[in-house]
Amino acid sequence: MQTQLPAEFIATDRGRRANEILRSCVHCGFCNATCPTYQLSGDELDGPRGRIYLIKELFEGEESPARATQHLDRCLTCRACETTCPSGVAYGELADIARMQIGSRRPGFNGALRLFLQWLVPNAGRLRLLSRVGRFARFLLPQALAAQVPDSVTQGLAENTQGSKQVLLLQGCAQQVTTGGVNESLQALLAQLDVGVVTAPQEGCCGSLDMHLGDEDKTLRAVRNNVDALFPHLNQVDAIVSTASGCGITVKDYGKLLAADPAYAERAARVAEATRDVSEYLGGLTAKLAAKFPGKRVAWHPPCSLQHGQQVEGLVEKLLIGAGYELLPVADAHLCCGSAGTYSVLQPDWSDQLRQNKLHALQSHQPDLIATANVGCQTHLASAANTPVLHWIELLS
Ligand code: SF4
Ligand code: SF4
Repeated sequence: MQTQLPAEFIATDRGRRANEILRSCVHCGFCNATCPTYQLSGDELDGPRGRIYLIKELFEGEESPARATQHLDRCLTCRACETTCPSGVAYGELADIARMQIGSRRPGFNGALRLFLQWLVPNAGRLRLLSRVGRFARFLLPQALAAQVPDSVTQGLAENTQGSKQVLLLQGCAQQVTTGGVNESLQALLAQLDVGVVTAPQEGCCGSLDMHLGDEDKTLRAVRNNVDALFPHLNQVDAIVSTASGCGITVKDYGKLLAADPAYAERAARVAEATRDVSEYLGGLTAKLAAKFPGKRVAWHPPCSLQHGQQVEGLVEKLLIGAGYELLPVADAHLCCGSAGTYSVLQPDWSDQLRQNKLHALQSHQPDLIATANVGCQTHLASAANTPVLHWIELLS
C-alpha cells in the first residue's frame, strides 16, 4: 500500500513501524473472510482491510478521528486476520499503535466505563473486594457489568518451592480472583512431576488491558513493574509460565514494548524470552499426564491469544488426547468467542452474538465438557453455556 505519513511521525519509532506495517498490506482482502466483526456487520470498515485503510488515513490526517475510533473500538484484537494474511501484515501491532495515538479517553458513559475498568481490573485487591460486593448488588449494575461478576472469589496461590526444578507462575489479576482453581490445579499437577511453583509477590497486571484501551503511560508502567518483579527470579526458574493465554501473549511482547528504554530493554527481553504458555511448558516435559475425568467427551476452544497471537496450535489437543480424552470437532474454531478483554463490557451486543455463535459450535456434538485456556474466554462462555466450561489444566491429573 502506498503511504504518505507525515515526516515527523515517521521519524519516531512508532511512526516508522506503522509505516512499515501499512506498506506490507497489499489490500487483497483475504483477511476479511476470517474477521468476526466483518462477518457480523458486513461493513468493510469493520474488517481488517478497511481498518488498515482507516488507520493510514488517520495518520495522514485525512480521516476523522471519531470514525476511525469507532471502527477500531469494535475490533476484538483477536488477530485472526494475521493468521489468514498471506503477506504477514502485523495487524495487531498496527492497531495498538493507532490506539496509542488516539488515546484511551472516550466521551460519555463508554468513557466512564473504560476508566472504571482501568481502575478496577488490573488491581487484584480491588477486583476481589468489588466482586464480593457485586455478588450481592448485581441487580444494581448495568447488565454487561453484572454478567462479569464471578459467582465465587478465589485467593492467590501459596508457593510450593519443593521440586528438582521450579517455574515462576504468572498469577494474573482477573485469573487469581475469578478462576484461582486453575493455578492450584497446575501447582498440584507440577508437584507430581517434581516441579515446584514460585510466585513474584510484586507481580501486577501484565498491561494488556491498558494497552488495548490505548493508554500508553499505564501500559508501560505495568510492564516496567512486572519486569522489576519477574526478572530477579530468572536465574532460579526453568521458565515463567502463564495459564492465561491473554496475559502470556503480552508478557512475551515485553521486549518489544520496552525496546526503546535503555534502563529496561535488556531485562524486558530476557523476561519475554523466558515466558511460556503452560501448554508449551508441559508439552516439553516427557511425563505422561492422566485424565481427571476419564471417558468424557471434550469440545476445545482455543483462545485467539493462544492460536492467533502466540501462534501456539495443536499442543493442548495433543496433551488432552494423550491423557485419554475424546476431542469433538468444533466448527469455526478460528473465530473469537467475544470475550476479548474488556470487549464483553464495552461492546456487549456484538460480544453476545459472538458468544452465542461460539457456544452453538462448541455444544453441537453434546460434549460433556468445554475446555479453554484463558480466564476471559472461560468466564464469558461459562456465563451462558449449558455445559461446564473449564481450563484444560483442570482436566488433567
Ligand atoms: S492485511 Fe493481509 S490479507 Fe488483509 S488486505 Fe492486507 S495483505 Fe491482504
Ligand atoms: S483483530 Fe479480529 S476483529 Fe480485529 S480486524 Fe483482525 S480479525 Fe477483525
